[in-house]
Amino acid sequence: MKKKDKFEVEKAIFQEHIQAAGLRKTGQRDLILEIFLSTEEHLSSEDLYSLVHQKDPSVGNTTVYRTLKLLTEAGLAREVRFGDNKTYYEHHYNHDHHDHMICTECGRVIEFFSAEIEARQDEMAGKFGFKPTHHSLRMWGVCSDCQEMAVETTTAPSGAQPRVRVKTAFR
Ligand SMILES: [Zn+2]
Ligand SMILES: [Zn+2]
Ligand SMILES: [Zn+2]
Repeated sequence: MKKKDKFEVEKAIFQEHIQAAGLRKTGQRDLILEIFLSTEEHLSSEDLYSLVHQKDPSVGNTTVYRTLKLLTEAGLAREVRFGDNKTYYEHHYNHDHHDHMICTECGRVIEFFSAEIEARQDEMAGKFGFKPTHHSLRMWGVCSDCQEMAVETTTAPSGAQPRVRVKTAFR
């Protein structure tokens, strides 16, 4: 597939959603979609805004926020939360289900998938006659890099609440 047509299907889905919502196609929304699709990060609206702003300073953060909402409605993006009171967005269309581990020291987010865990969750739901529609399994802890670093630094006082500051690699 040619690079130019890489996001053709996603763009068509978005276009259809925009029309159904009675909105018109704008260059700004197309740019936001393009930048969102070309990063594999978990992005907050502010993160995406700063990326878009580098390409086109005339795009406002409200436009970015609203476009992310449209992308979510269209099934191209999905919202994820990592416990820092922010909403992050990741690709949804054509992306397999996965769960997350979040490092409370550096904010690194690790994606993982375990068929065994998935099966156990369904089994547990079945025991309660519960019909799950979706789920998000999140584990908070300390990544291997931060554990290595902690060997040299003093440990936090016990009882301290772990703070979550999600960091994205492009920063
Ligand atoms: Zn899962
Ligand atoms: Zn870490
Ligand atoms: Zn993810």
